[in-house]
Amino acid sequence: MSTGYRSIPSVEKLLSDSRVEELIDVYSRESLVYLVRRSLEQVRQEIAEGKPSPSFDEMVDSIASQAASLWRPKPIPLINATGVVLHTNLGRSPLSDEAVEAMLQAARGYTNLELDLADGARGSRQSHVESLLCQITGAEAALVVNNNASAVLLGLSAIANGKEVIVSRGEAVEIGGGFRIPDVLRQSGAALVEVGTTNRTYLADYESALTQDTAAMLKVHTSNFRVIGFTHEATVEELAALGAGRGTPVLHDQGSGCLLDTTRFGLAREPMVQDSIAAGADLVFFSGDKLLGGPQAGIVAGKRELGESLEKVPIWRMISTPVDALEKRARSWQKSVGDTAQVVQGLSAIGGGSLPGESIPTWLLSIGAQGTPEGAQGLAKRLREADTPVIARIEDDRVLLDPRTVLTTEEAALLAALKSALGA
Ligand SMILES: *Cc1c(COP(=O)(O)O)cnc(C)c1O
Repeated sequence: MSTGYRSIPSVEKLLSDSRVEELIDVYSRESLVYLVRRSLEQVRQEIAEGKPSPSFDEMVDSIASQAASLWRPKPIPLINATGVVLHTNLGRSPLSDEAVEAMLQAARGYTNLELDLADGARGSRQSHVESLLCQITGAEAALVVNNNASAVLLGLSAIANGKEVIVSRGEAVEIGGGFRIPDVLRQSGAALVEVGTTNRTYLADYESALTQDTAAMLKVHTSNFRVIGFTHEATVEELAALGAGRGTPVLHDQGSGCLLDTTRFGLAREPMVQDSIAAGADLVFFSGDKLLGGPQAGIVAGKRELGESLEKVPIWRMISTPVDALEKRARSWQKSVGDTAQVVQGLSAIGGGSLPGESIPTWLLSIGAQGTPEGAQGLAKRLREADTPVIARIEDDRVLLDPRTVLTTEEAALLAALKSALGA
């Protein structure tokens, strides 16, 4: 044991190693002193547990890899080769070049975030987006908050605290990330009044539940699942007509924030924000980072009508890429990877709690990993550990990469990661 302790190098010896000195240049001396002390403490503990002491070079390597994992900027960019266009675990949707450029411009210096340039007085940060949102959705007013979950919570707290909110039994749903309609209602201080059944809820069910204590009727888009067969729901239009007669507002948690007609991409029809507003919903809540393809945000919009249009948003470009173009890309990947890979037909998912079960035809690069020790899981893991991690999906012990969600600017990095993962 004592020989183990005696082999532990001093803090100074480690700090003066040329490889550690290079790290000091990047991360500062204080940071490396911290890391070296921490590593030595770990080694002492391991020796106390009877483990062999690592060599000097092993210690330096471990310090270097700890420095990289501790201090490289997070989260790190990666390549989404899963074909799931809106991937909640991968930050949902990429931003358009225009949006990124605007964010860079604004972030580099000072801005008129809360300054009214006309009179030099304090302005509101909401004013920058409100008129645009009103124009796009036809609403009379709009507000942006952190995410859709907080938009719904805020709306309910403002309108229904201490009162009742009527929700269809089929819409008292859980969306994911802990967003559950019954819990959000409780948090807002409102009492949930469930009406109808899980598959069929009629306007009359809402009507008979309206009381003096009703603050609102809440309609929720069942974003990530679908009930098919013997079903019925009251439309926003019907609810709005009922609400208008009784002076009861209709709130619509629309979820995805769809502003385009999805049928033109061969997808099922996703309810659109402007339809909801036009149908008479008093408040519509939706996410800014799902189908809108913007930074994380929740948006509340209320009333009026109008139009749409966005085309530069990457997810809509991905969704509308012709299948021939995808085949071409998959074939060119195959050429550079070689015979271990094949090009096969498959499906891309829309995903992200939007358009449940909706998928579109694609072409995939399919790689069998039977020869390698850990199979497809091992290959997928090596891809995740690449300098620019590549996220693929696995089916039937094959690793599948979908060109639909891979930006053309990412192809070189993807191929480099593939070659090194296959070579390993
Ligand atoms: C996604 C979703 C939410 C939560 O939105 P976040 O932007 O993740 O907070 C709430 N309601 C519905 C119907 C949704 O689809």
